[in-house]
Amino acid sequence: MRIAVVGGGVAGLSSALALARQGHDIEVFERDDTPMPDSADEAFDWDRRGAPQVRHSHAFLGRLRNTLRDHYPDVYAALLQTGATEMRFGDDLPETITGFERQPGDDDLVMLACRRTTFEWVLRRAALAEGRVCFRTGMAVDGLLADGVLADGPRAEGAPGRPRITGVRLADGTSHPADLTVVAGGRRSALPEWLTAVGAPAVPEEAEDTGIVYFSRFYRLRPGSEPPPRTGPIGGDLGYLKYGVFVGDNRTFSVTLATPVDDDQLRKILTIPAVFDDAARQLVATAPWLDGRAEPITDGVHLMAGLLNRWRDFVIDGEPVALGFVPVGDTVACTNPLYGRGCATAFWGAQLIARAVEAFPGDPREILLAYDASLRAEILPWYRSGLQQDAEARRVAAALLAGDDPDGDASDPRTFMRAVFRDGLLPAMRTDAVVLRAFFRTFNLLDSPDSMATDPDVGARVLAAWNDRENRPPAPPLGPKHRADLLALIAA
Ligand SMILES: Cc1cc2nc3c(=O)[nH]c(=O)nc-3n(C[C@H](O)[C@H](O)[C@H](O)COP(=O)(O)OP(=O)(O)OC[C@H]3O[C@@H](n4cnc5c(N)ncnc54)[C@H](O)[C@@H]3O)c2cc1C
Repeated sequence: MRIAVVGGGVAGLSSALALARQGHDIEVFERDDTPMPDSADEAFDWDRRGAPQVRHSHAFLGRLRNTLRDHYPDVYAALLQTGATEMRFGDDLPETITGFERQPGDDDLVMLACRRTTFEWVLRRAALAEGRVCFRTGMAVDGLLADGVLADGPRAEGAPGRPRITGVRLADGTSHPADLTVVAGGRRSALPEWLTAVGAPAVPEEAEDTGIVYFSRFYRLRPGSEPPPRTGPIGGDLGYLKYGVFVGDNRTFSVTLATPVDDDQLRKILTIPAVFDDAARQLVATAPWLDGRAEPITDGVHLMAGLLNRWRDFVIDGEPVALGFVPVGDTVACTNPLYGRGCATAFWGAQLIARAVEAFPGDPREILLAYDASLRAEILPWYRSGLQQDAEARRVAAALLAGDDPDGDASDPRTFMRAVFRDGLLPAMRTDAVVLRAFFRTFNLLDSPDSMATDPDVGARVLAAWNDRENRPPAPPLGPKHRADLLALIAA
């Protein structure tokens, strides 16, 4: 098949790679003018205003890493060769963790540490090496070509038709026909408007703000300096501020701070590089990284707001809104960046597309239906679990900002569950390797979203920690307990 791919981010590149390896001919259209440089460090300077999140910390989860290891070993090797590193569960565990014994499944519990631009650079190189992939940079798609023919299948009387997409139209007015169009235009993709413009029904979507604003800055270790010894957590949640340090490739790392959307004061001052660095120096996990051993490699602090959770349905009542296209990545599902899932689910989605194309060659309706069914079975549960976590985090942040007790009303049964989370699960994760492993397996998308809650062994261990709550010292702080304390420390 001749396949057009709109967008050359993670979803577009992984779709291009997977489909090219099935023998299809691919043309990728990427709006950003990003000629292919010779090195990952040069790729870091790419002008990526079409995907501004590349200037923010990215974690690459175990599920994504395992798919690369098992199905794209050459790409995986290239990532490691380019400077990405493996972060294995069990290495550098805090001293408080007891009873760690390596399990066979721990070989899967490995995250990949590298910059997002490095990941894209390696992926693009791999796609180009296929020979069947033509990557056109600086070329924006402006709309879809459609022949307006209604497809077979049931359609309510008077309902809008289902056009057949036959390719893409570029902003320069040129048309590029394709047998299948993969739309990977990211979180700001105009796909729903493009579809209605060619006569498809409106695409239903649900969306809500994640409630956070992201601030990130990248650094590189100075010559002769080493990363600090890893003895504790790599981030923390102070309620009024979430934060983390992310190891990158080639001696780089980044720090991300995330504040509630309505904290105007922090939002204003954290964009000042010196204030950002000062704030990071007050936080337990980031402070050692900013003790002079590194220098910034991004001029300022990058801020990203408007971070949505969003799910779009391209199949309504069992019928595709149009034929001849498949949406993938953030175009379908946006999730809270704090959970680090977007690239893993984008790559996963690309594998689902390839599976559907292989199962139903030349049948665009069955391709979209099969793909949609697998998206709902495999990726939608992760979207839903993220929504639940966000609702709870927003509630806590709002209570703290209003000076209220974040535990809530004692008569509310959820208050007890929150206490078990705080005084049972969190302490167990600090001390018990079994509970920590279970958490990381879910975090890395290796077990189902509810697997921790349904595992009796984990449940018993959490309960034991809860029962012991009066006998242990308070948890070590991860930073200033109160927002006012952080502000005072920064001001000082
Ligand atoms: C602040 C932040 C931090 C994140 N952190 C993580 C993380 O730690 N781990 C993780 O896995 N995920 C993370 N994510 C999510 C991840 O970045 C996205 O899920 C992922 O980029 C989705 O890939 P995509 O290809 O769908 O979209 P994108 O990567 O956004 O790519 C879309 C591409 O399409 C191009 N494009 C758009 N419209 C057109 C057009 N009309 N014509 C041609 N080209 C077009 C854009 O220029 C862009 O290159 C984070 C997201 C944000 C916002």
